[in-house]
Amino acid sequence: MVPQEVSMADEKKKTPVKKEAEGKKEPEVKKEAPVKKEEAPVKKGALSWYFNFNLLYRILIGLVLGALLGIIFGEKILWIAPFGALFVRLLKMIMMPIIFSTLVVGAASINPTVLGKVGVRIVLLYLVTSAFAVFVGLIMGSIFRPSAELATLAVGAAGKAAAKTPISTVLLNIIPTSIAQAVVNETVLQVIFFAIIFGVGISYLSLSKDKRLKTAGDTLVVVFDGIAEVMMRMVTGIMQYAPIGVLALVAEVFAKQGSKVAGSLAVVTIACFLGYAFHVIFVYGGLLVINKLSIKRFFRDAKNPFITAFVTRSSNGTLPVTIEAGKNLGIPRDIYAFSLPLGATINMDGTAIYQGVCAIFISMTVTGANFTLGQMGIIIVTATLASIGTAGVPGAGAIMLLMVLESVGLPVVEGSAVAGAYAMILGIDAILDMGRTALNVTGDLVCTTVVTKGMGMLDMKAWE
Ligand code: ASP
Repeated sequence: MVPQEVSMADEKKKTPVKKEAEGKKEPEVKKEAPVKKEEAPVKKGALSWYFNFNLLYRILIGLVLGALLGIIFGEKILWIAPFGALFVRLLKMIMMPIIFSTLVVGAASINPTVLGKVGVRIVLLYLVTSAFAVFVGLIMGSIFRPSAELATLAVGAAGKAAAKTPISTVLLNIIPTSIAQAVVNETVLQVIFFAIIFGVGISYLSLSKDKRLKTAGDTLVVVFDGIAEVMMRMVTGIMQYAPIGVLALVAEVFAKQGSKVAGSLAVVTIACFLGYAFHVIFVYGGLLVINKLSIKRFFRDAKNPFITAFVTRSSNGTLPVTIEAGKNLGIPRDIYAFSLPLGATINMDGTAIYQGVCAIFISMTVTGANFTLGQMGIIIVTATLASIGTAGVPGAGAIMLLMVLESVGLPVVEGSAVAGAYAMILGIDAILDMGRTALNVTGDLVCTTVVTKGMGMLDMKAWE
């Protein structure tokens, strides 16, 4: 199924598994492309000090400065917000073209059997890690037992009815009725679905004996290949602006939320962040170590999406950066092009931990008691399933929390104590969302990397 014209650097990384499966001649191997460096070549000029300074340090400085400015100046610093919005807009601008083009080329060049095998493993690992993450959240919540005095609850919190969407609707919604609408509404799962079958269609054209059809298929691959490459170049350029965008985004969050993280809400925040840290160290670290992959090497490329997710609070928005990291980690394009956009939508470990902790906070606050083991089981199932079909956008986790609460008999009804406790969580949602999104994105990369390694398809040269 490999159109010979696919000549991207990644194509040389096609694995023996695939070649065997296809029994076809190998794609022409072009010159070895070096693993991309995050830094631009040494620049000269007025801003050379900026461009030549390590990007990670620049971003970290932006992060710390942003937090300080937000805390010190409070709302007076809010004029800075458009600089953060600029960064988010730039990333979102290329999100759909990058998902679409990389997926089409990926699907057009992979053997469907391999796609199926890799796909099933990745989706299973996504679900298992998410379910485990809810468990981690429930443990953290049970240890810290956060709660608030009912008297301090926000009055008149707007209640929201949790949307009860049957699972059949969630699954049917993966199929777009209009691809244009799916792209415009940024419904990632629908775009993934269409791009995959479109790519598979192209690969059939490329294999055709009819010269006209073959040329048409091959031409389409070359076109989408070109678009994908241009998008990657754009990501590298946009990341040069990341330090300033990060500073502004963090300053905005701290200016608006900083003072709210007090008392009981601080306990919720600590419990969530300890849960996030536990998951990164033990679950992700463990998965990498078991698969004999260096944690340090992994984070050398995973740090950019981690930080970008932290400040943008959007897995979808971070996708261009995550995809660039996947490429640099030696994952073949036909895998990362499919698994990372999918992960951004269905794999949300950070969100799962947050659900566990916050559900306990709300239960402790409203009923004064923790959940029973049975209720915890229901929370694990609901939170894991709720993550499928929920977009990786800021605040999506808070909507999912409504469904989880509903499933254990704590519906958010206007004026109720549950609504008040929920409103308190919403007050600090931006801060909790930063950590959970960073984790969501890292989880996508870890799962994809270890499954790729397990199938013998990871380019180990990138790890030397
Ligand atoms: N912001 C998260 C993400 O984009 C989703 C959430 O709100 O939990 O992955």
